[in-house]
Amino acid sequence: MPALCSCGAKVSGTVICSTCSTALERDLVTLASLAPDLDVAVNRQARLGEPSHGGRPVEPPLPFDEHASDARCLVTSTLTAWCEAVLEERDDRPVREIAYMAAWIHARIGRVVVLADAGDCADEIAEITRVMVRAVDSPPELVYAGPCGVCKRPLYCRPGKTTVTCRDHNPAWSGDVTERREWMLGMASGHLAHAAGTVRMLAMLGIRITPVQVTRWVKAGRLQARSEDAAGRPLYRVGDLITLAANRGAQLELKGKHEV
Ligand SMILES: [Zn+2]
Ligand SMILES: [Zn+2]
Repeated sequence: MPALCSCGAKVSGTVICSTCSTALERDLVTLASLAPDLDVAVNRQARLGEPSHGGRPVEPPLPFDEHASDARCLVTSTLTAWCEAVLEERDDRPVREIAYMAAWIHARIGRVVVLADAGDCADEIAEITRVMVRAVDSPPELVYAGPCGVCKRPLYCRPGKTTVTCRDHNPAWSGDVTERREWMLGMASGHLAHAAGTVRMLAMLGIRITPVQVTRWVKAGRLQARSEDAAGRPLYRVGDLITLAANRGAQLELKGKHEV
């Protein structure tokens, strides 16, 4: 009886087929390339809580993206386990960083495809790639609506809601979401972030833009990087994107189109 890959394809000499190993390689490349964006997502909360230009610290800090750090733990521990499975005596132990480990496994794909549990490896890495893409890209289901006016607990509501209510105390406290959104946009606008970071930050505040739109605005000369990080990647001012997104909204109303 011929050996079969977990997808059902026939294999000879390996445990997973070439289609599955190509998919695994693609996932590993995705993990390595998204790692900086995940770091941005994880660090955003800390940065937003920092004082700007010697001013008072933002209080309370905006609770962005706690799930990004959960995603980073899961992706890191899964990759660590598969590095252990692939590791041979002659190897240097890989650095425990997502990009490093993903590239390290990718460089040893020939060893992965003959592991007895290569199918599990491919499945798990596909799953953590989905988690990673979600953590970096996906718009949140709930929009942050600022802290409660009484107990200061962070409040969230569905996009489109006009009021947010905290019932943790009696009487309950209600705030106007639009007003609070304006206030948060004001606080967020001075911050610098990478393209993917600005997209996610604005999504948290109920403004939908895509990384492709950011690229288009840069190419059209409508958006300039305000700074860059240690790795030379451009950092954009969130306020510039809020303005462009607002202009786009006005243009959409005029044209009745769905794209700028
Ligand atoms: Zn297969
Ligand atoms: Zn409250």
